[in-house]
Amino acid sequence: MTRPTRFEHNRYLGDKRNRVVHDLDEAGDGCAVDELMASQRFASFGPDTLAEARNRGYRPCRHCGAPVSTPTP
Ligand SMILES: [Zn+2]
Repeated sequence: MTRPTRFEHNRYLGDKRNRVVHDLDEAGDGCAVDELMASQRFASFGPDTLAEARNRGYRPCRHCGAPVSTPTP
């Protein structure tokens, strides 16, 4: 897929509506990232890491398969 232009320097993109975080390096059709961008209900993270996303209460998207091997606190 085409990476959203405004997120070309970010890897992780959060959906505020369902608290799911996508890995843009792996995102596919099931992620509906284009629709998310259009909705403008997305979130970026600083630092741009999965750990930061999880700290903010986001869970990895099952489509782009953000690794869930990280032990939960
Ligand atoms: Zn996804």
